[in-house]
Amino acid sequence: MKVLVVGSGGREHAIAWTLLKSPNVEQVFCTPGNGGTATLENCQNLSLAVDDFAGIAEAVKERDLDLVVVGPEVPLSLGIADYLQQQDIAVFGPVKAGAEVEASKSWAKDLMVEGGIPTAKSATFTDAAKAKAYIEKEGAPIVVKADSLAAGKGVIVAMTKQEALNAVEELFGQGFNTLVIEEFLVGEEASVLALADGKTIIPLLPAQDHKRIGEGDTGKNTGGMGAYAPAPLVTPEIMQRIETEVLQPTIATFNQRGIDYRGILYAGLMITPDGEPKVVEFNCRFGDPETQAVLPLLDTPLDELMLACVNQELANVNIQWKSGSAVCVVAAAGGYPDAYEKGKAIARLETVNDAIVFHAGTKLEGDRLVTNGGRVLGITALGNNFQEAIAKVYPAVAQISFDKMYYRRDIGHRAR
Ligand code: ATP
Repeated sequence: MKVLVVGSGGREHAIAWTLLKSPNVEQVFCTPGNGGTATLENCQNLSLAVDDFAGIAEAVKERDLDLVVVGPEVPLSLGIADYLQQQDIAVFGPVKAGAEVEASKSWAKDLMVEGGIPTAKSATFTDAAKAKAYIEKEGAPIVVKADSLAAGKGVIVAMTKQEALNAVEELFGQGFNTLVIEEFLVGEEASVLALADGKTIIPLLPAQDHKRIGEGDTGKNTGGMGAYAPAPLVTPEIMQRIETEVLQPTIATFNQRGIDYRGILYAGLMITPDGEPKVVEFNCRFGDPETQAVLPLLDTPLDELMLACVNQELANVNIQWKSGSAVCVVAAAGGYPDAYEKGKAIARLETVNDAIVFHAGTKLEGDRLVTNGGRVLGITALGNNFQEAIAKVYPAVAQISFDKMYYRRDIGHRAR
């Protein structure tokens, strides 16, 4: 079969790479893709933007493609799945109504209250004075969030009341018109990505990521500096609770609302010190960089799982995993997540042989591979355990170079 992957990050390279491992997949197209998908065997980039729905539908029909896989949240929240379904094109990713679970935090909170899904207590505000009065009443620590998509930049975890009050001013000042203010949750975070076919929901291996730029999980928030799977924090008992207390009730509540959710439901969870999973956020797509750690451990062909979601046949599926662990280290451009330079030549990728190099912010300039974003590469290694995976991944990262390359040297430190 032939598949089109929509997006241009490390996540999309990992999806394309995993699809091409399947005996059923002969060709993958990626739009717009990156330098990695451009150079992957049997993969070809198209130059359509992720929100060019008409262009994407035409490309699918022209090439007689069998499936479209949507990577990022923005086209999903704009309704790409609805658009393609209307044209009888098979698409992996939820309809617009389902993507609301990521696009609006207050919508997601209402859904969780309706479904009795454990999460932080919260209130929604469109008025600064009322938001501030709520903070005065609740005290700190407290978390202030922009309701809408903000690429990770709309959340302020305020340790003092004053910080929270300032956050209200800041976010309304930036033009956000709705804020969600919620209880500060204590615990350790984990990500559970689950496959959903509208009725059945099956979790993939649990993962953890490192969001902060600095070692020891310090400094600014980023899109993610590394990830590992399966996260030992999520014991089989905790996974069972996540399935029965979070994933299944969420799908049931979608159903009650008449939403047929097919694709990935990503639960960002806080695992409290007594082992209770509480939802921090839902996303409507694969996580980046968690995907680069989870998919290399998958043994079942990915296309079969995706088609089972599209055709509502997930109940018959039994997912097979490799044993062992995966660690993904992100190599970023110096300066990221603030200002950074692009266009730096990337050297010695071909010398890496004991790890997988997923490209994120790269592009081909003629024959030259250059940096083209903040997070440039994600290097994943597998091992029988975390020690082995970590011992393999860092020599691989050290082989690669580009001007001002930066990476954290402690990815996976909590799993060791
Ligand atoms: P991203 O796009 O980076 O995943 P987001 O903008 O959708 O994030 P959230 O995931 O809701 O926002 O929050 C970002 C981070 O802030 C979380 O990963 C978590 O570390 C912290 N955080 C959010 N809500 C809470 C909470 N209630 N208690 C403690 N920490 C929180």
